[in-house]
Amino acid sequence: MSLRPLHLLGSPVLREPAAPVGGGAAVDAEVRALVADLFETMRAAKGVGLAANQVGVARRVAVVETAETESFVLIDPVLVEKEGRVKEEEGCLSIPDLYADVERAARVVVEATDEQGARRRIEGTGLLARALQHEMDHLDGILFLDRVGPIKRRFLLRQWEKSREGQTGYLKEVVPESAAKA
Ligand code: ZN
Repeated sequence: MSLRPLHLLGSPVLREPAAPVGGGAAVDAEVRALVADLFETMRAAKGVGLAANQVGVARRVAVVETAETESFVLIDPVLVEKEGRVKEEEGCLSIPDLYADVERAARVVVEATDEQGARRRIEGTGLLARALQHEMDHLDGILFLDRVGPIKRRFLLRQWEKSREGQTGYLKEVVPESAAKA
């Protein structure tokens, strides 16, 4: 397992629709290593989800962990049910320190392949529902900024540009968890 650098807003891979992995034998050692790295990087960055695009890999793989007992692997996820609408504040590890209210379905059911190659159903409400939708958006090249109103988006993009002043490139090294706590 290893920490992978995060791709930040401006990195083209975040806008790339990711390619399907495929079932059965397609979930190979490389995919499992990617899943392990996504979990490790997400936890070190203190996120509740991370998509492969965010570490520079345009494949339909993401992880979500909203609590110790709620951690999910999403390979080729498909939304099969959605219900209700709810607006809550949201952020993204690829756009650090920017937050906005985003409207999402209140409850979703997602079908996805796990790291063993088995197809599973995941039902979520609250933060889990939000995280599932946010990560699935990433796999389509969509960011939460695309789901806020134009005025708020312009404001956030100005903030972002200001925060990026004097910086080059769109990669951010993630500090290991133990070091972060020290
Ligand atoms: Zn995100």
